[in-house]
This record gives sequence, structure tokens and C-alpha cells, in this order.
Amino acid sequence: MVNRSTVIDDGNTKEQQEQNQPETVTTADTGKDYPQRVKREASWPSVLFYIHLNILGLYGIFIMFTSASFLTILFTLTLTFLGILGATAGAHRLWAHQTYAASTSLRIFLMLCQTLAGQGPIYSWVQAHRLHHQRFREDEDPFYSARSFIAAQVHSQIMSYTPEQQLLLDGVDMSDIEQDKVVMFQKKYYWVLYFFLHVLLPVNAPLEYWGDSIAAATFVAFSLRYLIVLNVCWLINSAHFIWGLDKNFKPSDSNSVFFITKSYWPQYHYLLPNDYQSGEFGDYGSDFTTAMIRVFAALDLATDLRTISSVAVRKGLTNAVETGRPIVECIQEQATEEMNEMPKNHYLNRDRFM
Ligand SMILES: [Zn+2]
Repeated sequence: MVNRSTVIDDGNTKEQQEQNQPETVTTADTGKDYPQRVKREASWPSVLFYIHLNILGLYGIFIMFTSASFLTILFTLTLTFLGILGATAGAHRLWAHQTYAASTSLRIFLMLCQTLAGQGPIYSWVQAHRLHHQRFREDEDPFYSARSFIAAQVHSQIMSYTPEQQLLLDGVDMSDIEQDKVVMFQKKYYWVLYFFLHVLLPVNAPLEYWGDSIAAATFVAFSLRYLIVLNVCWLINSAHFIWGLDKNFKPSDSNSVFFITKSYWPQYHYLLPNDYQSGEFGDYGSDFTTAMIRVFAALDLATDLRTISSVAVRKGLTNAVETGRPIVECIQEQATEEMNEMPKNHYLNRDRFM
């Protein structure tokens, strides 16, 4: 469902182009005007689905506190955790940003976990997230990074893509993902996997294995879990509104402090997304997903963990000032140099490479 009258098309007549003059919208966080050139239409199946999910998920909280068994709650928590891990360690850090390499067994495990997140196939998740990075704080960003937190977290999820966004999505380089047999398998059989893992398993297990009620299985293990996982995973694309650097706030020393201390996650992640330690929820190097990637590495399931030390960042910044070249290019250059000298098991010595 797309609003064709608002498509910016080079083939339009002058009159049509005048009619399509961009209207301006004021952003909630900056108070500045930006042109909104295209409008997205609501995806009504998504709207109805999320209304139902919110109501049923909230009812799940009531069931959880009144009648669900301890085993169902534990099972729900486990599936919730696995779904979030699939989105953060899998879709985001492994497939979207290639911050490390994973063995086939780990990729299969993370693919199954990502299916538990119910956010669509890894392929389309990565495609949208890469476009989000490419068009960060621009109108074409599918996750409204130029607008407000609520727009990014909720509104963007229930809207269809514009034809312009669809074109941009089709243009995203997915060659690395297309060579990954695990991702392509999931893309092909997504709805079968979704039905068995995401719907049947959570609803069936509490009924069949420990005799809990249909209400607990449906509203807690399915609806409430789905509601939590979706909201947490959506934060990956909207957390920059919460943990970002406020334009009006200057860190004590200088604006580059966030680079060296790796605080202000979005400023760091959106400039240097290849660091496996870059947490999705405001942390650096101390979050659960990072710890899990280190465990995978210790088990030889994950290799080539990419990171950047503060020393390399400092050297890169100095080079950028001295040569006038782009900051990111200079830091990446230093990071590559450093990675070549780092021992393979650098992740075991976390303090040294913070
Ligand atoms: Zn990212």
C-alpha cells in the first residue's frame, strides 16, 4: 500500500512537481524543520496485528501473576532471551555489520534464535538496518531516525515502505548475505520455521509437557513474550534517541570524548559499526550479547572478533587532524593496522582493548 501521489519522480511534469513540493515537519527532539518529501501509508494488517498483540500481551501479564506456572514463566523468559540474542548477536552484529565470523553451527543456532524474535527473515532485517545506517537522520530512513523516539519505536513499524524506500532497499549491497546458505535457507522457509518455532513451540510446550492452562500458554508464552521481544528488538533502531549525545550537551573535555571512552553508543556505533563490543542498549563491552560472543569465541564457534582500542581511536583522530582526511577513514585505518597485530584471543583480555 503506497501513496503514489507523493512519489518523487523525475518524470513528473513541472505542475506535478509543484504540487509535490515537500511539506515541512518539525522534529520533536531538535525543534528544526526538515522537508518530508514522501509519505508512508499505514500497513493496516500490521496496525491490527499490533493492537491485538498489545491487548493480548497485557492480558498475559495478568495471567502471569495469577495463574501461570513457574515453569511456563521460566520457559517464556528463556525464549525471550533467545529471541533477543538472535536479533542482537545474530541479525545485528553478525549479519548486518559482520563484526565477527561464525561457524555453521553457530549461524544455525543464531538463525533459529532470530526466528524466535518474530521480526521477519534475517535477510530483510539486515537490508532495512543497512539502509537505516546509510540514511541515518534522513527522510528515507525506514526507522524515522530524524524524528522522535515514538515515531522510530512504534510508528515506523506499522507503516509500509514508500516506492522510493523500496528502491533504496533493493539497492542495498546484500552480496555477503546472499552467500550465506543459513540466511538464504531461513529466507526461503521463513513462515514454516516461524510457525513451528515462534507459534507452535511456545503454545504447545506448556500444555503438553507440564500441563499448564491454554490461557498461560497462549497469553504468556506467546503474546507477552512476542510483545516484549518486539519492543526490545525495535530499540536496536531507535535507541539512539535514548542513549545518543544531545546536541546541546557538551561532554566535559571535548566533543570527541565519546569516541575515546566509547560512551554515547549511537555516536560511536553509527560511525564505527564494525566493533563487536558495541552494545545495542547504551553499553560498550559489558552487555550480555558481548559476553555471549566471547563465550562463542572461547568455544571456537566465533572467530575474527573485530574491535577498536581507544589507543587506535586516538591515533586515528590525530591523523585526521594532521592530514585533514575524514575521521572515520583515519580511525578505520588505525583499527585495521591494530587488528593485524592483535593476538587472536584478544577478547579474553577485555581491559586492554577497551
Ligand atoms: Zn547497527
